[in-house]
Amino acid sequence: TKLRVGLLFGGRSGEHEVSISSARAIAKALGAEENASKYEILPFYIQKDGRWLAGETPQQVLGSGIPLLESQNLTPQEQNKLASNPQTQALGRWQSPSQVAEVDVWFPILHGPNGEDGTIQGLLTLMQVPFVGSGVLGSAMGMDKIAMKMAFEQAGLPQVKYKALTRAQVWSNPCVFPKLCDEIEATLGYPCFVKPANLGSSVGIAKVRSRQELETALDNAAGYDRRIIVEAGVVAREVECAVLGNEQAQASVVGEITFNSDFYDYETKYTEGKADLHIPASLPDAVSRQIQDMALQAFTAVDAAGLARVDFFYVEATGEILINEINTLPGFTATSMYPQLWAYSGVSFPELVDRLIQLALERHSK
Ligand code: ADP
Ligand code: MG
Ligand code: MG
Repeated sequence: TKLRVGLLFGGRSGEHEVSISSARAIAKALGAEENASKYEILPFYIQKDGRWLAGETPQQVLGSGIPLLESQNLTPQEQNKLASNPQTQALGRWQSPSQVAEVDVWFPILHGPNGEDGTIQGLLTLMQVPFVGSGVLGSAMGMDKIAMKMAFEQAGLPQVKYKALTRAQVWSNPCVFPKLCDEIEATLGYPCFVKPANLGSSVGIAKVRSRQELETALDNAAGYDRRIIVEAGVVAREVECAVLGNEQAQASVVGEITFNSDFYDYETKYTEGKADLHIPASLPDAVSRQIQDMALQAFTAVDAAGLARVDFFYVEATGEILINEINTLPGFTATSMYPQLWAYSGVSFPELVDRLIQLALERHSK
C-alpha cells in the first residue's frame, strides 16, 4: 500500500504564493515515475485566513497555482484586508479536516511565520505523525534571527556584528530612543541593516545610511515584530549551501546569487530575471569546503533536521566567510536554489523529495 503524504501548503505568511509554487513542484515530484508507486498525495491548503482545507480546493490550487480564499463568514472588507495584508490576525478559526487522520507522513512546505517557525511543527508533533524537516526547536531557532545568531556565536561561527532590540525599546519614550540610535551608530556604523527578527523573503528589511533612515527603519521593523535586529553591513558575495540529512547530514555544492539591486530584497528575490543563480559558485576549493563545513555546523547548532539552506557572505578581499542565516524550509520550487544545489550534487528533485520523506520516518522512529 502507498504511504499517504499530507502536503501542507499555503499559510498565513507573506510567502503564501511561494509556498504554493513549492508545493506544486513537490506534488509533481511525488507523482514522478520513481515515486508514484510509493506515495499518494493528500493535499491540505491553508488559506490566508488560517483555515485548513482538504479535498477539492487544495487540488484546484495545486493545479492552477492561484491562491483561493473561501469566503465563509467573512465580509468582503475582511477578505480584502486578509488578502492584502498577511500580517493581520486570523479571522478564520482553525479547523481540522477529517482527512488529517489519514495522513501517514506530513510534508509541510510553508515559509515564514506559522510555517517555518515551529508552530506547525508543534501541532504535528502532538499528532504523533512523522513530518519532513526540523522539529519545534530547530524551526524556532532558525526563524528568529537573534536566537539563530546566539547559537552560531556559541558554535564559534563568524558573523557580522549585531545588536538585538525589542519593540518596547524602539517605541520607548523619546529620551531613551536617541541613546539607542547613538549606540547603534557607534558600534555598527553605516550602512547597517535593520530587520524584524522573525520574517523571511527580506520582508521589513531596510539598508540604512543615516540617522533619519535608521529611525524610520526601526519604527517600521517594530511594526512587523516584537524582536528586531540591527546588523553591520558588509560588502560581500552571497553564497549558499544546502544541507540534507538528520544526525549525519550532508552538504551540497556551494551556489552563488548575483543581482544588480542594492541588496537581495523582496523584489529582487521574486521578480523573474532580477537575480541569477550560479551553481557551483566559482570559489577556491578550500573556501567551498569551509563553507560546507560551516553549513553543517550551523545545521547542528540550531538543531535542524531533514533539510536547510545555509546562507553566507564571502568577503573576497579578505577571504572572510561570515554566516548570514539558516532557512529550515527554503524555497522549493523547480527553480529554487535548494533543489538546484542538490540536482548539481547528483540528487534529482524526485529523489530529494523521497529522501526527505524517508528522513522524516527515520527521525520519528528513533
Ligand atoms: P531573509 O531571511 O529575509 O532572507 P536576510 O538576513 O538573509 O533576510 O537578508 C536579506 C538580504 O539582505 C541578504 O540576502 C543580503 O542581500 C542583505 N543583507 C542582510 N544583512 C546584511 C548585512 N549584514 N550586510 C550586507 N547585506 C545584508
Ligand atoms: Mg531567511
Ligand atoms: Mg536570506
